[in-house]
Amino acid sequence: MEARPVLIVGGGISGLALAWHAARAGQRPLVLEASDRLGGCLDSRRGPDGFWFELGAHTLYNSYGALLEIAEGCPTPPHLVPRGDARKRFGLLRDGHLVTMGPLSVFRQFGTWELLTRAPRGLFGKKAGRTTQEHFSRLVGAKNYARVLAPFLSAVPSQPVDDFPAAGPGSLFKKRPRRKDVLKSFTFDGGVGAIVDAIAGADLDVATGAAVAAIRRGGDGFEVEVADGRRWTAPVLGVAVDPATAARLLAVSHPAIADAVAAVKTVTVDSVGVVVDKRAVALPELAFVVPTDDVFWSAVTRDPVADEHHRAFTFHFKPGVSPDDRRRRVRDVLGVADDALRLVVEKRTVLPAPGRDHAATVDAIDRALAGGRLAVTGNYFAGLAIEDCAARSRAEWARVAPGA
Ligand SMILES: Cc1cc2nc3c(=O)[nH]c(=O)nc-3n(C[C@H](O)[C@H](O)[C@H](O)COP(=O)(O)OP(=O)(O)OC[C@H]3O[C@@H](n4cnc5c(N)ncnc54)[C@H](O)[C@@H]3O)c2cc1C
Repeated sequence: MEARPVLIVGGGISGLALAWHAARAGQRPLVLEASDRLGGCLDSRRGPDGFWFELGAHTLYNSYGALLEIAEGCPTPPHLVPRGDARKRFGLLRDGHLVTMGPLSVFRQFGTWELLTRAPRGLFGKKAGRTTQEHFSRLVGAKNYARVLAPFLSAVPSQPVDDFPAAGPGSLFKKRPRRKDVLKSFTFDGGVGAIVDAIAGADLDVATGAAVAAIRRGGDGFEVEVADGRRWTAPVLGVAVDPATAARLLAVSHPAIADAVAAVKTVTVDSVGVVVDKRAVALPELAFVVPTDDVFWSAVTRDPVADEHHRAFTFHFKPGVSPDDRRRRVRDVLGVADDALRLVVEKRTVLPAPGRDHAATVDAIDRALAGGRLAVTGNYFAGLAIEDCAARSRAEWARVAPGA
């Protein structure tokens, strides 16, 4: 059994951000990641001729200050790449017909009468305490919300957003300070996943293929055991996995924390990423396609960082669609035959499903954590965005750091 200053369970951006802060403080951490690759939802894959595309997260903003702090503080910082004009175009797929539009033309999809009669009253409605459906139905009308806004908003977290809080923890809408010296919307050279390699190059250690099976109280802190029996101890522990796994791992050693975390609901998303020859697809270049009523939530493209030869589309499917049906739907929407798909990659992801009471759930977790050296971080605190994860990990490190 090896003693480490800091152990971190989970090598997604939450765990890596926590590790980066520990490393910067001179506490060489060890990150234990179950899968054979780091990054979790940050998942840039390489296709033919080095062409990269995103299976998961795809867009970063100049309001991502906690993430930028990390990126800029890495020994080899990733290069920022602008997202081009295609980022401003998207498609609404309704009844088999694709309408391409820009941010403003979304308004043309609204029923005008309902919009004009609702908007004046809705503008003065408070978001706090309301769900997304309640807030936006007041603003644009219930029918406009259901017909136009709900599909677009639900495409963001790949699940229905009706019950998401309209403001506060778990909300999709955040006001964050913007960095004027940074591109408004960007990715990294090689994709969002370039930050994963950059962080891994800092003064920290990672072990992939290390699925943590048990967490115990031990020595002067924590004992962690992975599935193959290897064990480590540390005075500081970070848990940065999905809520169900965190609750399971902490159930025996920290039951109050486990109970609080177990209250976070989750959904699964089945993603299919495909690379096609540019000439094979007739769809105009756009950032994403959102259907109004279909088996998938969205199809995200790589068009905002255009390539001469290839295009990539990652479809995020609702649960319960068979692999054959997913592939068929991808082909139908793209209008291509199976042999046009140069690369097909499948992935299942677990995402939190925050509800109206999410603020109270987060509060209960934080109260259970208070005073200990256990950090719990992830995308189920302030929100799902990468910035929310990076900011949570920064705050958790400040709380549990030796001497804090
Ligand atoms: C399709 C998609 C698109 C998105 N697009 C954007 C976007 O454009 N911009 C944005 O800001 N956000 C986006 N997000 C949200 C954001 O990417 C995620 O919320 C965030 O990356 C989650 O990071 P995490 O580290 O908390 O969790 P994860 O990325 O899920 O990482 C958790 C890690 O823990 C590991 N793990 C699980 N169990 C164990 C165990 N027992 N032992 C060890 N390791 C374990 C997992 O393998 C995984 O690597 C997107 C998310 C998805 C799914």
